[in-house]
Amino acid sequence: MPFWHRAFASFEVEWRPNIMKKIADMRRGKMLAQGGRCYYCDLPMWDQRLAVETHPQTEGKHPSKALLCTAEHLNPRSEGGGNGADNIVAACWFCNTTRHRRKRPQSPQQFKTHVMKRMRQGRWLRATVQQHLL
Ligand SMILES: [Zn+2]
Repeated sequence: MPFWHRAFASFEVEWRPNIMKKIADMRRGKMLAQGGRCYYCDLPMWDQRLAVETHPQTEGKHPSKALLCTAEHLNPRSEGGGNGADNIVAACWFCNTTRHRRKRPQSPQQFKTHVMKRMRQGRWLRATVQQHLL
């Protein structure tokens, strides 16, 4: 096998899991720093590894995928945002995917304002999840 094939293979095998693990660790760190709450909607999130600590009543299981803790890139990777700690916050799956589903994602601050307004109107996640979780 030519050298560059081997190099590429090990790049694929070793580099990706490392960066994924690094991001996962960063996400868990941010989640704890944010008191377990979503950066945007402020609802309590869950993480497979942290589920038991943050939501003992669920015993590690959780009813809502929407509140799964995800790593949110404030400046999206598609626009040159990096994987550094200053560009990553912990946001729930729902807020994360909703923000990035837009053609031109709002800035984090714009999106947060939008989410908080919807939350006050009872038109964001709370209405659907509070009976399961809070
Ligand atoms: Zn959220």
